[in-house]
Amino acid sequence: MNILVINAGSSSLKYQLMDPETGAVSAKGLCERIGIDGRLTHKVGDKKVVKELAMPTHSEAITAVLEILVDPVEGVIKSTDEIDAVGHRVLHGGMKFSDSCIIDDACIKAIEDCIPLGPLHNPANLMGIRACQKVMPGKPQVAVFDTAFHMTMPAKAYRYAIPKEYYENDDIRRYGFHGTSHKYVSRRAAALMGTKEFKLINCHLGNGSSLSAVKDGKCQDTSMGLSPLAGVCMGTRSGDIDACVVQFIMNRYGMSADECLNMLNKKSGVLALSGVSSDFRDIENAAEEGNADAALALDKFAYEVRKYIGAYAAALGGCDCLVFTAGVGENSAEMRERICEGLEYMGVKLDKAKNKIRGEEALISAEDSKVKVWVIPTNEELMIAQDTAELVNAAK
Ligand code: AMP
Repeated sequence: MNILVINAGSSSLKYQLMDPETGAVSAKGLCERIGIDGRLTHKVGDKKVVKELAMPTHSEAITAVLEILVDPVEGVIKSTDEIDAVGHRVLHGGMKFSDSCIIDDACIKAIEDCIPLGPLHNPANLMGIRACQKVMPGKPQVAVFDTAFHMTMPAKAYRYAIPKEYYENDDIRRYGFHGTSHKYVSRRAAALMGTKEFKLINCHLGNGSSLSAVKDGKCQDTSMGLSPLAGVCMGTRSGDIDACVVQFIMNRYGMSADECLNMLNKKSGVLALSGVSSDFRDIENAAEEGNADAALALDKFAYEVRKYIGAYAAALGGCDCLVFTAGVGENSAEMRERICEGLEYMGVKLDKAKNKIRGEEALISAEDSKVKVWVIPTNEELMIAQDTAELVNAAK
């Protein structure tokens, strides 16, 4: 089967054509500057082509993707008939979606209804969906939501302790994000652990970071909230913060709520703490060269992740498996070691030699570690392709 996985942003569109069973990617690429001029970068294996093409809307971008996929020289298929279905990444499914769904009018209406919760992403995701409907009429399409995996959380985890009317009238609650990654990693961890019944704490640590507490494959709690701003400090996001800080800064500097939130989302996190970069590699290098602010940024990030791990072990009543994934989790042995230091009390014992891996699936805990610690590279596109194939096959 060939599934075209689409991740549409407001002026960009990423794609991968992949086999959901093997995970093999036959082609992938990126359309950029949609609505401005337009550039397509297309990769097949190690071969890369860049084309400047007019892309006034997402429809021209999708058309360009399909044309290059069937191109006799650059392409990988003979006709678009070889694409069995399209899977779309959609940011916010609100309370309407606890799973992926076949796209029809009702699904589109529900994604529209979630726009107040995902005002930046959902409209862009819808543009990608509508463009595919226009360019490939009748092709089965599936929406895969970043929030859906977390919908199994109990009310005590997802409700905020604020007046009920905001929940009842406006759907204000914890949703959580990176759900497709947490779902993929949970499934992979179950395969590696040889059971579905275990307590998992998953650390998705990248530019954006979130942790989830998962019991028997079902999410019980997660660190991001109504928006991806909550939880541990991240590349440029502050993470959890006392709301009074927002009020104080707004009053003191005459900032609007939007300006203040922009600062918390884009100018905070380890970027602000280190004063160096939002990129963990740069921060690790600066810390090694003796930059104290960079050292503090790494120390605080590790401390916050460790605190969430402790909280989730308490929430789950124990922990059998701890997983690291995403850019930092998969690649930074140093950060994994920092985080695990001090978790010995709960049965986490890292094998420092085994931990020295980068970007590959591996068990990195010591033989006698009560908690199994794994590095599992995430693959959100594969999860989207698998969900798409499953739903489309079931509907046949
Ligand atoms: P992601 O958002 O999952 O793509 O992760 C991006 C983050 O991973 C960036 O902050 C990178 O600096 C970080 N990263 C990637 N490779 C490494 C590495 N070898 N060591 C430390 N951080 C890394």
